[in-house]
Amino acid sequence: MKPPPFGYRAPRTLDEALDALAAVPSGKVLAGGQSLIPLLNMRLAAPSHLVDINRVAGLDTVHAGDEGVRVGALARHARVERSPEAAAIQPLLGRALRHVAHPVIRNRGTVVGSLAHADPAGEMPAVLAVLGGTVEAASARGRRTIPAAEFFRGPLESALEPGELAVSAFFPAAPPRTGTAFAETARRHGDYALAGVAAVVTLDEDLRVSAARAGYLGICGVPLVLDLAGAAGPAGDWAAAAAHARDSMDPEPDIHAGAEYRRHLAGVLTERTLSIAAAEALRRAGV
Ligand SMILES: Cc1cc2nc3c(=O)[nH]c(=O)nc-3n(C[C@H](O)[C@H](O)[C@H](O)COP(=O)(O)OP(=O)(O)OC[C@H]3O[C@@H](n4cnc5c(N)ncnc54)[C@H](O)[C@@H]3O)c2cc1C
Repeated sequence: MKPPPFGYRAPRTLDEALDALAAVPSGKVLAGGQSLIPLLNMRLAAPSHLVDINRVAGLDTVHAGDEGVRVGALARHARVERSPEAAAIQPLLGRALRHVAHPVIRNRGTVVGSLAHADPAGEMPAVLAVLGGTVEAASARGRRTIPAAEFFRGPLESALEPGELAVSAFFPAAPPRTGTAFAETARRHGDYALAGVAAVVTLDEDLRVSAARAGYLGICGVPLVLDLAGAAGPAGDWAAAAAHARDSMDPEPDIHAGAEYRRHLAGVLTERTLSIAAAEALRRAGV
């Protein structure tokens, strides 16, 4: 199918992009186009205008600093996945990005576009949510920082308002003695996952579990984040943590998998990722 007719703007600066978005409130940002173009072609979206940000200078940045990794709106999945600087500061990013679609899609699609698209089966929303990251939004009215916990509102629905452009996303650094892991189950590699888990475990100076969090994709309409430190206890009983996770979720069935199968997958992946993350935390603690 062909897309419905739309107007097209191709700004070259951020100010021009924000002016274009203010002028066409029912317009949509076009970034990598890996989700938007299929939606247009299937006529599941019919925006009046596309504001193509691909020529806007200064948005294709990846900054890794002590505090975390800031990813600009035009940084492609592949660039972030292959950044050694980003991997050193927050390894969970690259680990999860390897599961996003296929290499050709990752060469074009953007990390920030994935967040703005807010697909509950997407890897990046779950990673941002479990890390407690933020999205920086800009419009002709000004800027604001949106915490991940407020950003995802429902399936394909984010807190971005008409006229707003997500200019960057911030993924906080891994604290000392912290390990991370990512795993998902998909029917074929590169497909959207039936269920997936991003896990983060932090140990205290006595090597007891001080934090254990899991972020889930494919379970409900927004990324689900569970604090599992209490269920795991200081010694890290990951089977108990997984049982608690299974009891704490209410997965949504669809044509690909039923609720009980998704709950089962989430439990298996929770135990697996938490134990891998804990082993990495021990290594980082020098044990
Ligand atoms: C075959 C196939 C398999 C895929 N598998 C996966 C997968 O397993 N996991 C996964 O997570 N994704 C998957 N995707 C989607 C892919 O990762 C997309 O790249 C990503 O979801 C969106 O990024 P994009 O830059 O292409 O955004 P676009 O398609 O350009 O935009 C997507 C949406 O976000 C909005 N948007 C984009 N950027 C901004 C911005 N800076 N500010 C405000 N709004 C913005 C657009 O207006 C649009 O509504 C798949 C895609 C295909 C075609």
